[in-house]
Amino acid sequence: MYIEESCGRLECIGNEREQLEVAIMTEEYSGSDGLLSEWDSNFGIEFDGSWSNENKNSIREAVLKTGEKIGEGLRASDAFKSVYGDNFTFSICGQGVGPGCNNNYRMKTIDSNHITYNPSVGFYPSWMGDYSRRNVRLVIHEFGHAFNKAVCDIVAVDATICSGSIDPPGSPYYDLGNSGLVGGGYGDVGTSFNGFAGGVDEWQFRYSEEKGEYFADMFLGWVNGNLGPQRADHMNSYMPGYLSILSP
Ligand SMILES: [Zn+2]
Repeated sequence: MYIEESCGRLECIGNEREQLEVAIMTEEYSGSDGLLSEWDSNFGIEFDGSWSNENKNSIREAVLKTGEKIGEGLRASDAFKSVYGDNFTFSICGQGVGPGCNNNYRMKTIDSNHITYNPSVGFYPSWMGDYSRRNVRLVIHEFGHAFNKAVCDIVAVDATICSGSIDPPGSPYYDLGNSGLVGGGYGDVGTSFNGFAGGVDEWQFRYSEEKGEYFADMFLGWVNGNLGPQRADHMNSYMPGYLSILSP
């Protein structure tokens, strides 16, 4: 692939997945990240602090996959922004960021449009040699938390409760809490991972048995289309409603 000399801009390249591939290759070969900046700006994402290229690229892949799934054929960037807004920030703990960093989580969602990355949290040994692929999945799991926050902010009578531990009716965490699909041994019991496509650090990134963590893992499975039948049914029946609330 190459960029037409007469253009030199992303819009001359096919779809947004091809645009990302060309932009990454251009950065690798020429050191120029102009196309990547343009791609980021189309999706409304911004990196604060000093990120490695590998880390940024795995986040971009997560953004793209999530946008493609939400959009179902529409422009992935428009779909992503319809849920998460025009300015999504990824920041690094210790580089000017306060909230969301007093914890032991590698990634933490602190708002519907803000995720922090904590490099001081040790590299999971199971990720050795497989960092990018697993990091893409962890970021999509975090987008599940951010998705709940976005819906919650709309359906809650008082949006301040969405920052606490109460899940209002109509929010994804609340609906999943009533589904019978939360907790070990529930949901898709006939499948090897209770309705997930793999185990811990593979297709499940929850750190607890809370319903919000199950929702984030199910969001990951929904984006990738690999949930067991019961979990897939739950997501397929609720997600269109949430999406229409977010983007009427
Ligand atoms: Zn989580």
